[in-house]
Amino acid sequence: MSALDATSTTINRTHAPDLIPGYRLEKLVGTGGMGEVHKATQLSLGRTVAIKLLSPQLAQDESFVARFQKEAAALATLHHPHIVSIVDKGSTPTTYYLVMEFVDGPSLRERIRQPPADAFEHLRIMMQICRAIEYAHHRGVIHRDLKPENILFDMQAGDLPKVTDFGLASFLEDTSARFALTSTHVAMGTLSYMAPEQRVDAKSADARADIFALGLIFYELLVGELPAGHYDPPSRRKPGLDPRLDGIIAHCLKQLPADRYASVTALMRDLEPLIPHYTTLSPTKLSRTERLKQSLARVMRTCLQVTAALLVVAAVGVLGAAWLRNSEQRVPVTPGTALTADLGPPSVQPLAGRLSSVEGEPRKVTLGEGPDKPSLLVSGRPLVLEDRKLVFPAVEGQSRVGLMRVDVPNMRGDQARFVARVNARGPELTFGTRLKSLFYGPPPPPETALLLLGSTGRYVALVYSGQGAPLRLEWNLGEKRGTMIGPDSPEGPVELELDVDEEGVLIASVGTKEDRRPVAEPLHLGPNWQDKRFGDEPVPALGCIEGMCQAENFGYTVRPVPRSGPPGAIVEAARQEAPRVAAPAPAKKTVHKPAPSRGKRSK
Ligand code: ADP
Repeated sequence: MSALDATSTTINRTHAPDLIPGYRLEKLVGTGGMGEVHKATQLSLGRTVAIKLLSPQLAQDESFVARFQKEAAALATLHHPHIVSIVDKGSTPTTYYLVMEFVDGPSLRERIRQPPADAFEHLRIMMQICRAIEYAHHRGVIHRDLKPENILFDMQAGDLPKVTDFGLASFLEDTSARFALTSTHVAMGTLSYMAPEQRVDAKSADARADIFALGLIFYELLVGELPAGHYDPPSRRKPGLDPRLDGIIAHCLKQLPADRYASVTALMRDLEPLIPHYTTLSPTKLSRTERLKQSLARVMRTCLQVTAALLVVAAVGVLGAAWLRNSEQRVPVTPGTALTADLGPPSVQPLAGRLSSVEGEPRKVTLGEGPDKPSLLVSGRPLVLEDRKLVFPAVEGQSRVGLMRVDVPNMRGDQARFVARVNARGPELTFGTRLKSLFYGPPPPPETALLLLGSTGRYVALVYSGQGAPLRLEWNLGEKRGTMIGPDSPEGPVELELDVDEEGVLIASVGTKEDRRPVAEPLHLGPNWQDKRFGDEPVPALGCIEGMCQAENFGYTVRPVPRSGPPGAIVEAARQEAPRVAAPAPAKKTVHKPAPSRGKRSK
């Protein structure tokens, strides 16, 4: 940023950028205070990335190089669906570069100019930005240059806002002079979005400076312009806005940091009740051809229904009966709730598998092949083993929900890893089913889920949709319930994983090693999570809703963390230690307070 009062940053380009080994620069997509950002191809993986090049002039200045390195360090610390992720960094003979994920969509600046898609669109965006900043603050990183230009929308990931440009970020605990801001750096920040204390002394500004910037961005998003002087509350400027937003924004915009929200978490707590059903994604956008197809199908449906009604009065009765049946088939609740509802008495079914239970070693159960026969409790729908895969075949006219629980005792541990390669497909479309869908609409989408099930009906479920709907992490852990919506389900089969570390942080991910990515934010279950959250040691389970579901390479491993005593007593020690009192949370700076109740649809 060249001037204090500007909102965007530019730099003169004097020569073409150097070649960067391993990457092909495609086109210049933006310029900022530090240099240029190019769309590029990472040749080894053939994927599109963004490369930020420090301007060669600034590369001569040690303090700018330090800041550039610091941006890389800040980004490397942060791994969040609403923060642009870093891929690599390096240097050329004349300068330094950062490689980041490429975000294809518009910036929030462009969004502010457009009318919102629906009343809650702005609130969704605000909440998602808050999530990113809350996450960064919990990891000790303050952004210090939040503005609409630094929030980009990832359209491919479902219109997710992503915070970028951590070029002025600071680490809360870093007091080293090496990273102190020079006056030039301060000038790089955008005065219009700077908190009053940041303008006076940038070094002393803390997380509440970001809260001030959030207040400004939210006001601008809702009203269309920045507040100035004694500004009008948003609901006066835009009748129809929830008047509770006035107080929330005013609280962010207090002149004194001490009068503002103390944390982004507190701000989110006030925002959340304003969003009745908070989901991450806006409805899927249909292409023109798809819309045309849908309209044609609608017209045909109407014609057929009218003709049928005129010709055969009795058809009305048939239609009514069929409609009733169709509505019975609909899954009325969230997948997790459907899967943990009463599905009737389970049948015990032994199945080929492998069980390792050497004391002191991780305890592991795998299904599909092996000499052991772990017993499974199957309810709702029959389960079969086909070519080492667990399969819920598609069924007609029966309960459409199936659940298989692994009935192996003593799966106790501090760390757990649950993995399976899953797929879900709708029933084959015959002429009859096609005709039926013309009358009654398309059949419900097939979904499958990996679940960790507690004995008291508590669960965490990672749900995959066979029709490309977003992956979702859903949980009901007594007082904590919620859902986080992730990226679209890739075409199956796909590897899903639930991984809990010894501090009780659960990460749900999708994809294989090379292409693994988190489905949602970490879910903080806390230490002693098995008893504390599930009421007892949870068991791994496979759920199926509609259509055919299958799982292969199904494996669940638990590992007690050794505490003290002889190695042979590890499992026993963990078992005895289970007395249902939670250990105090470790004071580790990278682990923040649980966010489960702040899920996109937490209750
Ligand atoms: P600077 O730190 O030099 O000010 P920015 O990080 O603000 O630079 O980037 C400048 C512009 O480049 C942004 O406004 C945006 O248009 C574009 N840009 C930045 N990061 C990305 C990215 N990851 N993907 C796509 N475009 C990006």
